[in-house]
Amino acid sequence: MSKKFIFVIGGVMSGVGKGVAAASIGKILQSRGYAVTAIKIDPYVNIDAGTMNPTEHGEVFVTEDGDETDQDIGNYERFLGQNILRDNYMTTGRVYQSVIERERNLHYQGKCVEVVPHIPLEVISRIKKASRKAKADITIIEIGGTVGEYQNILFLEAARMMHYENPDDVLFVLVSYLPIPGTLGEMKTKPTQYATQQMNEAGIAPDFIIGRAAVPIDEPRRKKISVFCAVEKGDVISSPDCESVYEVPLIFEKENFSDKIIKKLSLRPRKRDLAKWRSMVQASKRARTVVRIGMVGKYFATGDFILPDSYISVIEALKHAGTAHSVKVEIDWINSDAYEKKSALVKELKTYDGVIVPGGFGTRGVEGKIKAIQYAREHQIPYFGLCYGMQLATVEFARHVLGIKDAHTTEVKPNTKNPIIHIMADQAEKLAKKQYGNTMRLGAYPCILEKGSVSYGAYGTKRISERHRHRYELNNVYRARLEKKGMVLAGVSPDKSLVEIIEIKGHPFFVGTQFHPELTSRPLAPHPLFTAFIGAAKKHASASVREKKKK
Ligand code: GLN
Repeated sequence: MSKKFIFVIGGVMSGVGKGVAAASIGKILQSRGYAVTAIKIDPYVNIDAGTMNPTEHGEVFVTEDGDETDQDIGNYERFLGQNILRDNYMTTGRVYQSVIERERNLHYQGKCVEVVPHIPLEVISRIKKASRKAKADITIIEIGGTVGEYQNILFLEAARMMHYENPDDVLFVLVSYLPIPGTLGEMKTKPTQYATQQMNEAGIAPDFIIGRAAVPIDEPRRKKISVFCAVEKGDVISSPDCESVYEVPLIFEKENFSDKIIKKLSLRPRKRDLAKWRSMVQASKRARTVVRIGMVGKYFATGDFILPDSYISVIEALKHAGTAHSVKVEIDWINSDAYEKKSALVKELKTYDGVIVPGGFGTRGVEGKIKAIQYAREHQIPYFGLCYGMQLATVEFARHVLGIKDAHTTEVKPNTKNPIIHIMADQAEKLAKKQYGNTMRLGAYPCILEKGSVSYGAYGTKRISERHRHRYELNNVYRARLEKKGMVLAGVSPDKSLVEIIEIKGHPFFVGTQFHPELTSRPLAPHPLFTAFIGAAKKHASASVREKKKK
C-alpha cells in the first residue's frame, strides 16, 4: 500500500480547533485499523516553541525525546494514544536552518540555493522522514496559521508539490469558520468561500471542508459551500461546538467522514472500532458530582481575556482523572499576584477541594503561590505541585516548617543564604552564555519510587519515566532536614542524585513533582498521580458536604 498524506489547513481565522480536527481525523482513521501519525508545522522563525511566551503561543508541550513543541502535539498524543516525537514538529526556523547548514557543507555542489524549490523540498523530506519513522500508513500534516498569510506559503507549496507528484495519495482538508453575526442571526459562508479561493491561488483545492460553527450547518448552506467552493455536498463536514473536544471524532463519524476519506484515498474499508472512545466520552458527560480545583498561576490574562491554553495539558489531565472518578472537575483560575497584593484573599481556597500550582518561570506571583501552598498544607486541602509547584512547595516547607525564613529558589533570589532550590551546574553555564533555547533538562527521565509513598501507591510500580522541562533542582544539602520534619522524598533519579517527587506525611494528599505528569495523561489512560489527586479531592468534596449537612 502506498503511503497516504492528509494536509489540514485553516481558513478564516485561528483558534477554531484545527489541531483538534487534525487529531480527530487521525483518530477516526486509526479506529479503522490504519497506522496513523500526525505532524505539526509552525510557520514561526523560532526553532522551537521553547522560547515563546505561553500567553501568546499557548503551552509549550514537551515530547518524550525532549523537543519543545506546539500544544497541538499534545492533542495528537492524547487522541492517538501514542508518543509523537521530535521529527513530527517543524518550524520555518528549523527548515531554513537545515538548508543553510547543508549549503555551508557544500551539499548543493555550487548550485544557487533558492527559496523555491529548496525550502519546500526540505519540508517534503521532513514529512516523509517523520512518516517513515512512525511507520505510518496515513500521515496527517497540520499547517499552522490560516491560508492567505505570507508565513505559510512555502508549506502550502510543499503540499502542492506532493499532491502534484502523487495525486492519489494526498488529500487537503480545509478547516474553516462559519460566523453567525449577532446582528444577523444567520450563518455566513462567504469567508469560507474566500478561504477556498486563497487555497486555490496556492494551487490546491480542498477535498473536504470542515465547517466549524456554533451550530450544525443546515442544508442550504451546505449547498452553497459545495457550489462555491467546488466540493461535493457530502464532503462538507459539519463540526458544531460541543461540550468536550473528545466528541469531535464521534461527530465526524456521524457524517461517515472516515469512509469518505478511505474512499478518496482508494484504501480498503476495514471494521470501525471506536467503542472504548465512545464510552469514555459518555462517561465524561454523565458525571454530575462537582470537584472544585483552584489553579494558582500567572500565565492567565492577555488583555481582557483569560487564556487557559497556557495550561492545556493540565486541564486535560484533570478531565481525564475526573472521568475516571465519575466527577466533573471545575477549574478556577487564580492569579497568584492577587494573594501578594492582599494576603487575606488566600482564605478563599477553603472553598476548593484541591489546589494546583502548575509549572512556571521567573519572579512574578511567586510569593502568592507560596501563600496558596501554605494554606493548602495547613488546611489539609489536597495539593498537587507541578515542577515550579514542587519547587515552591519545598521552599514553603523550609520556611514555615523548618523555620528557615530566608529559604528560597535561586531563580528568584540568586544570592539567598538558603538556596533550597538551586540551579544545576551545567545549567548555570548555559545561562551565563545566554544559551536559552533547548537547553533545559528536557524530555523523559527514569525515576525510582519509595515503597509506601503515595506516589508508589498511585503508580503501583517502582520504576517510572516522566517528562521534564526545568533548570533548577532541589538542593541535596537540605534533604536530611526536610525528611526529618516529615517531607518524603518519594521519587529520586536512579543514581539518587536528583529529587523528583516530594510528599508530606500525614496530609490527605500533598505531592509535588519535578517533572510534568500532565504531559503523558491520556483520555483512555489517565495519569496515576492526577487520578490519585482527584480521588483525594473527591473525598474532600464529600467530607465538606457532610460537614455542611451537620451544620
Ligand atoms: N522555573 C523552574 C525551573 O526552571 C520550573 C520550571 C517549570 O515549572 N517548568 O526549574
